[in-house]
Amino acid sequence: MDHEFTPEQELFRSTIREFCEKEISREYVRECDRERRAPREVYDKLAAQGWLGVNAPEEHGGAGGGAMEVAILLEELGKAFLDLSFWVFRTVTWGGLAIGRDGTAEQKAELLPRIVSGDLTVCFSLTEPDAGSDAAAITLSAVEEGDEFVLNGQKVFTSGFKVSDLDIVATRTSSSGAKHHGITNFIVDTDSAGLEWQPIETLGHWPLGTAMLYFTDVRVPKSRMLGTVDEGWPDLGVYLRYERLCLSAARTGAAAAALADSVAYAQEREQFGRPISKFQAVSHRLADMQTMVEISQMLVYRYASRLDRGVATTRDAAILKLYACEAYKQVADMGLQVLGGYGYTMEYDLQRHFRESRLGVIGAGTSDIQRNIIAKTMGL
Ligand SMILES: Cc1cc2nc3c(=O)[nH]c(=O)nc-3n(C[C@H](O)[C@H](O)[C@H](O)COP(=O)(O)OP(=O)(O)OC[C@H]3O[C@@H](n4cnc5c(N)ncnc54)[C@H](O)[C@@H]3O)c2cc1C
Repeated sequence: MDHEFTPEQELFRSTIREFCEKEISREYVRECDRERRAPREVYDKLAAQGWLGVNAPEEHGGAGGGAMEVAILLEELGKAFLDLSFWVFRTVTWGGLAIGRDGTAEQKAELLPRIVSGDLTVCFSLTEPDAGSDAAAITLSAVEEGDEFVLNGQKVFTSGFKVSDLDIVATRTSSSGAKHHGITNFIVDTDSAGLEWQPIETLGHWPLGTAMLYFTDVRVPKSRMLGTVDEGWPDLGVYLRYERLCLSAARTGAAAAALADSVAYAQEREQFGRPISKFQAVSHRLADMQTMVEISQMLVYRYASRLDRGVATTRDAAILKLYACEAYKQVADMGLQVLGGYGYTMEYDLQRHFRESRLGVIGAGTSDIQRNIIAKTMGL
């Protein structure tokens, strides 16, 4: 299925593209990556454009856009700078969507305008050392005490924590009954007393980084509960499916960038007296990469459109995440091969795509887990 964009959506895309060309140079991306520095300057400029509020309710300073606008924004940002698009994905998922959908009137009024303006940034903590793919097995406890909940336990792989003011934390408030019951989400200040963190060294995702968190008697006011006590799991499902759209759109943009670099290199590099693009082994590889990028795009638009029409299913989200993330991994790998030895050096960006694409098939539900979801919907 191809997608017909509205004139407004086409204009939105071309405006973002122009912004990226002007504000995000290749050298800037390399510098942030090398120095493991979050792209704060550009993030603030995105806020000034109003794009951090692309999906936030209009009454709280947002643009009230749908999933398609989010997909367009993240695809274009992902093309220019993947970690920047991941920062924005967190803003729109844990801010515009999660707080916009499930926040109380007070939470929305207090937090959303500041998230949209870039004043407050948000991350998300679900994964624990003993609860990865089995995410509902979380044990970080939240115990009610007067007007507060007291949090104790550990989280692992909270990405973007070092640049975040707020962390949406999934906790265990009850252990009786099924593990999907008894989960409650909180909006926690990242500078709360008793909340310690330490960075985790990883293969990529360097500008935003990821972290291990230790909660020791962290006191969170009841007014910072997001949603209903013990009933947080279904809400998390909504956020995680939205996350699949965002991450897939961003990685589809990144895959397109890896493809463009590979094509340009193949047309320029000469061996045996001709551009290597003239060798069928190379051109076929590029043709396969082009095909994967286009299929990823179609799946992103299909899922965004279904979300906007209220007909998206869990299977749709899993198929999108599985395909787009596996495709980026393959495109990055094949592109690196097109560049030969130069692809393996730090001088070219293919090595970054190669490293970054590896996370896609692990984070936010591994490819195995997406396959499990798809198989289950097939009655297997
Ligand atoms: C860089 C990075 C950033 C991240 N950012 C965040 C974040 O911001 N917030 C957050 O909450 N989490 C985050 N994560 C966590 C991520 O979502 C988990 O790593 C992921 O869900 C897998 O969990 P795990 O690492 O514990 O692997 P495990 O669950 O231990 O899986 C190990 C292997 O076993 C396979 N496996 C497990 N169960 C099954 C099964 N039932 N069927 C088939 N195969 C199975 C998996 O596919 C995988 O290959 C991040 C992770 C990384 C690496």
